[in-house]
Amino acid sequence: DSVFANVVQAPEDPILGVTVAYNKDPSPVKLNLGVGAYRTEEGKPLVLNVVSRAEQMLVNDQSRVKEYLPITGLADFNKLSAKLIFGADSPAIQDNRVATVQCLSGTGSLRVGAEFLARHYHQRTIYIPLPTWGNHPKVLTIAGLSVKYYRYYDPATRGLNFQGLLEDLGSAPSGAIVLLHACAHNPTGVDPTLEQWDQIKQLMRSKGLLPFFDSAYQGFASGSLDADAQPVRLFVADGGECLAAQSYAKNMGLYGERVGALSFVCRTADVASRVESQLKLVIRPMYSNPPLHGASIVATILKDRDMFHEWTIELKAMADRIISMRQQLFDALQSRGTPGDWSHIIKQIGMFTFTGLNTEQVVFMTKEYHIYMTSDGRISMAGLNSKKVPHLADAIHEAVT
Ligand code: PMP
Repeated sequence: DSVFANVVQAPEDPILGVTVAYNKDPSPVKLNLGVGAYRTEEGKPLVLNVVSRAEQMLVNDQSRVKEYLPITGLADFNKLSAKLIFGADSPAIQDNRVATVQCLSGTGSLRVGAEFLARHYHQRTIYIPLPTWGNHPKVLTIAGLSVKYYRYYDPATRGLNFQGLLEDLGSAPSGAIVLLHACAHNPTGVDPTLEQWDQIKQLMRSKGLLPFFDSAYQGFASGSLDADAQPVRLFVADGGECLAAQSYAKNMGLYGERVGALSFVCRTADVASRVESQLKLVIRPMYSNPPLHGASIVATILKDRDMFHEWTIELKAMADRIISMRQQLFDALQSRGTPGDWSHIIKQIGMFTFTGLNTEQVVFMTKEYHIYMTSDGRISMAGLNSKKVPHLADAIHEAVT
């Protein structure tokens, strides 16, 4: 008998498990709106042109070797990533008080940041939005932080519960960590306005709450890298401290390359250098050092003016296609006279629409229409295309009538 005989079967991941179920479905009309991965109008995964170009350049570079990276990753990549999120003219970067380490995409960056905080920060409590990306509480808890929720989404208005958010952060213990989605909140697609961000900042600074930004969608929300980074830059502008976890999964389509960055914006260059030294002690026993290929692609693109420009155009095209899917789905429901107000589909931002469909309705749509999504009614607009809009609209119409 196996020494592992007492291992019980674990449930599928609530998000990635949707794809597992989708793959098993033989129906030709099936549609996967579960995982947040970009698809073209033809329903195919997309490798950006500029990424293929960068890879070709890397392959052709005779001087290239496969040595280990330092524990902190590719130095160019780290500098360029900090510039991308904080802005090229960021005083924090000019003052040398940003410590950036290359990590395994957004998830790895969150994990390393959380492990550091659990070891070196005086407050172990982290407030995360309700709801949030399903992996957040797991990553943060396993790193040793204690997770609490702040109100974020109001199902009645399908918008931000700003009052609830301010109340909950207002009653958080001084110094607590607060996880903030930099833009394109997952799963709700609801972001604060810049005025609201400013109020959140004032409240957090007055209470000494530590901002930990999760930036998984820079450029994907509005189509502009700078516009999507505004909330983060607002917090950095006042000279205060914060953390930021960046992912290149969505905005460069580098999902499987696992390329991301974790930055600490510190008060002084001296603190930043000590933080970096301790980050190395977190990373070394976890995975020793990060992978080379993805970071080389990103650095190649970010440091070349033309390639950077080409990237922004391809990124904008992805963002625009998603925005157009919102409009098409909204129009299709209007034309069917589907009961209810569906304007949130065009108001929400980023990759997902939080439809308001309940678990029962989701189960119905999967069973009868072979449409796959997470049970909270979140659909990935990036997985939708014009040809499939009528099918989805029919399914939603029947589910709610
Ligand atoms: N944060 C949020 C809010 C996300 O939606 C995601 C991806 N679904 C991530 C982080 C991390 O993604 P990755 O590790 O693939 O970069």
